[in-house]
Amino acid sequence: MAGMLYLVATPIGNLGDMTQRAIETLREVDIIAAEDTRNSLKLINHFDIHTELTSYHEFNKYEKAEELLAMLEEGKNIALITDAGTPAISDPGEVLVKMCANAGITVTSLPGPCACIAALILSGLSTRRFCFEGFLPTDKKERKEILTEIAGEKRTMIFYEAPHHLVRTLGELYKVLGERNITLCRELTKKFEEIERTTFEAALDYFETNEPRGEYVIVVEGKSREQLLREKAEEWRDLSIKDHMNKYESAGYDHMEAIKKVARDRGVGKRDIYRKLLEPEVPMNPKEGK
Ligand code: SAM
Repeated sequence: MAGMLYLVATPIGNLGDMTQRAIETLREVDIIAAEDTRNSLKLINHFDIHTELTSYHEFNKYEKAEELLAMLEEGKNIALITDAGTPAISDPGEVLVKMCANAGITVTSLPGPCACIAALILSGLSTRRFCFEGFLPTDKKERKEILTEIAGEKRTMIFYEAPHHLVRTLGELYKVLGERNITLCRELTKKFEEIERTTFEAALDYFETNEPRGEYVIVVEGKSREQLLREKAEEWRDLSIKDHMNKYESAGYDHMEAIKKVARDRGVGKRDIYRKLLEPEVPMNPKEGK
């Protein structure tokens, strides 16, 4: 019978957050695949776990996943852990999980600490709809593409960043998103945990004289409904009613739907739009009308 893959979350800074089930599972599996075996050795020694460790990291994730899959198929049970937090969240794991799923190997999770969820719930921003962006890509073109994509994002956004890149990332986000409420979560679950509910401008001012230190999660408020309506209003402000109608009709809306949309955009009744459309168009140059 094939073995099982256990995705085991480990603390992000506070050993007290290790769950009982995580300890028992790490003791019982045949092997633990860890991102950095030296780092994980401290964790497993602390909890008196004696299971063999093997490394599974960003740079061997494809070849090693094949090896681990073969072991699972032979009937071995494997636990996957990362340096901190939940495996497969901005950490290797996704490839192995996909391969196991394709091969029909059972994968189960032992949930626990995850920096993005801890930051989101502490942010004081909307938790009803959110998106996780993790680290922005380092490749310039990809980074620009993602920044362009999120410019109109209405959901709360969560980013990971290393301290030495924090100011640059905040500056780029500010440029694309404009002034927003943001929450900076530093050293979560650790002794010097700090939650700063601020804005891009205030944070950038602060970091001019204070060097960022420690691990950060950036939580950013999504674009508000008011802001979207304001932008939409700016879009049609210079259009005539006819051009405004054309905009919707050329986007595939029928005449009645377009009237409804134009009326809603302008905050007037549909009748007002009918009436305006029936009025003869006033030529730009009165002489042309003759
Ligand atoms: N898998 C991890 C998780 O579940 O959150 C994330 C690993 S990712 C490689 C590391 C990033 O997570 C850091 O650069 C930081 O943005 C965030 N992070 C991890 N631990 C943190 C902590 N204690 N406080 C704040 N951010 C943390």
